[in-house]
Amino acid sequence: MVPFLNVIHDLYLKQLLSVFSWKQWMSSKGHRDVASRQTATQESGIMRSAARAGCPSPTFIMMVFTAARLYTPLEEIGDPLLFVQDGAITKVSSRAQSETPQGASLLDFGDAILAPGFVDIHMHGGTGVDVMQASPADLARLGKWLTNNGVTGYFPTTVAAPIDQTCAALERIADVIEATRDSTATNGKTPRARPLGIHLEGPFLSHKRRGVHPPEYLAQPTLEVFECLWQAARGHVGMMTIAPELPGALEVIAEAARRNVCVSIGHSDADLASAQAGVKAGAHHATHTFNAMRPLDHRDPGIVGEVLTDNQLSADIIADGIHVSSAVVQLFLHAKGFDRSVLITDATAAAGMPDGRYQLGPMEVEVKAGRCTIDGKLAGSVLTMDRAVRNVAILGGWSLRNAVRAATLNPAHAVGLSPQQGVLSIGSEANIVVLSPTGEVRKTIVRGLTS
Ligand SMILES: [Zn+2]
Repeated sequence: MVPFLNVIHDLYLKQLLSVFSWKQWMSSKGHRDVASRQTATQESGIMRSAARAGCPSPTFIMMVFTAARLYTPLEEIGDPLLFVQDGAITKVSSRAQSETPQGASLLDFGDAILAPGFVDIHMHGGTGVDVMQASPADLARLGKWLTNNGVTGYFPTTVAAPIDQTCAALERIADVIEATRDSTATNGKTPRARPLGIHLEGPFLSHKRRGVHPPEYLAQPTLEVFECLWQAARGHVGMMTIAPELPGALEVIAEAARRNVCVSIGHSDADLASAQAGVKAGAHHATHTFNAMRPLDHRDPGIVGEVLTDNQLSADIIADGIHVSSAVVQLFLHAKGFDRSVLITDATAAAGMPDGRYQLGPMEVEVKAGRCTIDGKLAGSVLTMDRAVRNVAILGGWSLRNAVRAATLNPAHAVGLSPQQGVLSIGSEANIVVLSPTGEVRKTIVRGLTS
């Protein structure tokens, strides 16, 4: 199987040996709309250089994936056929409804499940790499490691730090987002999870609910500080955690929402009215529900009361069995349901590493027996996304499909990345995780490249 796959990779990467043109196939199947849309987005480096050289348009080998089941994840398809060309999904069907086109390469994953690659919208690092210190080579290593856990896209997440360190980190991450955005060519032959946007966790956090974020680096929300961070990140801020009760927060929330940032309330001591004011200003998500939030009281429900009861709000949770008890994870899943529950890892550089000391922005985390702490306070996790999915299936009693949905479509939707990410549908990126029937990662495919 493996040598065969390598051959397929080579063919795919050279993009020279296609048996027929994707355009011909699409139009022969009546997919003219998709074909014309894809024509506009066929912008790989190879195509651009071919066009510059006056070459005829290159064609791309089609790959067809099959397994026992497929989660879109809104639907489950038995005996699926998933058609992929030039890194994008061109058709989702079943063996009963479609045939493999002549000349296409069929990869059969047996009793496995095909699902969208996981999208982690809150992670600080892994495999020894801290995203705020990371060089492009470090982020490439992190991206490769993330595919072991089924992750194909993620939001590198900052912590409160000196402004010059934060801005330098934002610039470096923005470089990698741009370098990996337009072309699989920069990925070489190795599938890697890509940074899709930046999550600013700080500096606009409550001193009272700061967790381990250093108090000296927290800031009052102002449009000036937000603009400074936005400029350093060259507009790649996709998400921002903010305490809505802080003076000036509502103005910053409104401006960030206007720029299509997913504004997420968290690290907050807000009462119910302040949390609701944040939502009214434009927040539509909540960060690691229960952690670093004023606790729920039956006469003073606070921010948690708003998060659990407002159906406009999606929310995320760290389902590692350490941050939140399993009974409270069940409460959360029940409240937010299948369409608004989001799984995050909040992973630090320690994820995937042995116990020891690891960097987290300007801080050092101590890891013992899977607990990350700074001065005894929880400081991120060593959770991986595949484990979070299995935990929700086990703790929450959810079907694997719905647990997968909380790690794919729901986060992608929360941060505005669907339908390109988090879903297996025509036109979306061919980011696929191949899962065992019990949710272990067997293989990860990023834009059609298999691990
Ligand atoms: Zn975090």
